Amino acid sequence: MSVKASVRALLEYNVPQEAPIKLNQNESPFDPPAELKAEILAALKAQAWNRYPSGDQEPLRRKIAEYTDFPSEGILTGCGSNELIQTLIQALCAAGDRVAVVNPGFSVYSRVATVLELDVNEIPLKKDFSFDVNRIAAAAADDKLVFLASPNNPTGTSLSPAEVEWLASRLKGTLVIDEAYYEFSQQSAQSLVSRSDRLLILRTFSKAWGLAGLRLGYLLGRPEIIPELRKAKLPFSLGLFPQLAGDILLNKVQWVQEAAQTIVAERERVFQALTSLPGIAPIPSDANFILFRTENLTAQQLFQRFREEGILLRCFDSPRLVDCLRVTVGRPEENEVFIKTLTSILRESGR
Ligand code: PMP
Repeated sequence: MSVKASVRALLEYNVPQEAPIKLNQNESPFDPPAELKAEILAALKAQAWNRYPSGDQEPLRRKIAEYTDFPSEGILTGCGSNELIQTLIQALCAAGDRVAVVNPGFSVYSRVATVLELDVNEIPLKKDFSFDVNRIAAAAADDKLVFLASPNNPTGTSLSPAEVEWLASRLKGTLVIDEAYYEFSQQSAQSLVSRSDRLLILRTFSKAWGLAGLRLGYLLGRPEIIPELRKAKLPFSLGLFPQLAGDILLNKVQWVQEAAQTIVAERERVFQALTSLPGIAPIPSDANFILFRTENLTAQQLFQRFREEGILLRCFDSPRLVDCLRVTVGRPEENEVFIKTLTSILRESGR
C-alpha cells in the first residue's frame, strides 16, 4: 500500500497505560463518583441506540454555554479536543500553508499538520520555558494557523490575556489558544473572542472534568465562523455516550471545581517538595502537572527507576527536554508515594 511518506515518517502515538500509579497523561485522578456514573448510564439506557446521535448537540451546547457564559451559537463540540484540532487544520489550511506551534509543546498540532503535508513552524520557548511573545509575533506573522496552549503542555507555563490580545493584533492568521488546563489556571482569553474573528479558544473534558475515556472537547469562537468549521467535521463523530455524560456532568460543576481545587493544592505541595530535593529543579506550573529538570541522574534513568517502582511518569524525545520529566498531579496518597520514591532514588544514587 502506498502510505504517504509524511505518515510513514511519524512515530506511533504510543503512551504506556498500565501501572499501579499512573502519572503520565495529565488525566484527572478522580473518576466521576458511582452515583453520577449510574445517572449517566441510566440516561444512556433510556436512549435509542439504533438512531444516530444529535448532529448539532444543541442540549449539550446550551449547558456548555451556561458553564462558560458564552453564546451557544459560538460553541463547537468534538470528540476530544484532538478532533477539533484536526477540524481546524482541515478547515483553515490548504497546500503550502504553514502551521505555527511552540517547542516544547503539545505534539498533536504538528502531527495532524504533518499528515496533511503542511509546513510546521516550530518556535522555541525561552530558556525558562516562558513564551517569547515577540519572537512568536515575528516568526508566525504570516502563518495560517497558530496553536498556543496556555497553560502549555508539557511546561505548565501560561500566556496572560494581555499577551494573547497583543499577539492576536500582530498575527495575520488564526490564533487558537488551547485552554485544556483552564480549570487549574482559571485564566482565560475567552473575553477577547467577541472582538476578533481570528481568535478561538479550545477546551476539553479530559482533564479537570475526569472524562478522558469518553472523548469530549469544545471550541469557542465567533458565532459566524462556527457553522463553517462544523462543515469540516465528520458528521456524527461525537457519540451519544460522551454527549450524555457531558450534559449530566455539567449539572455537577461543583464536583469538578472541588476536584480542581484539590489538584491545585496538591500541585503546590508537590512543587515545594521537588524544590527541596537535591538536583531537581521544577518549573512553576499553572496546570495539573509539573515539568522538572533532573541534574544528577538522566531523565531516562529516573523514568526507568520509577517504572520499576510501579510509577509511570512522562519522558520526552525532544532534545530540549532530554533532562526533564513530567509528573501529573495525582491523588494525595499517590503524590506522597511519588515524593517518597523520588527522595529514596536520589538518596540511593548519591551513595
Ligand atoms: N490540548 C492539550 C494542550 C493537551 O495537553 C491535550 C491532552 N494531552 C489535548 C489538547 C487533547 O485532549 P483531548 O483530545 O483528550 O480533549
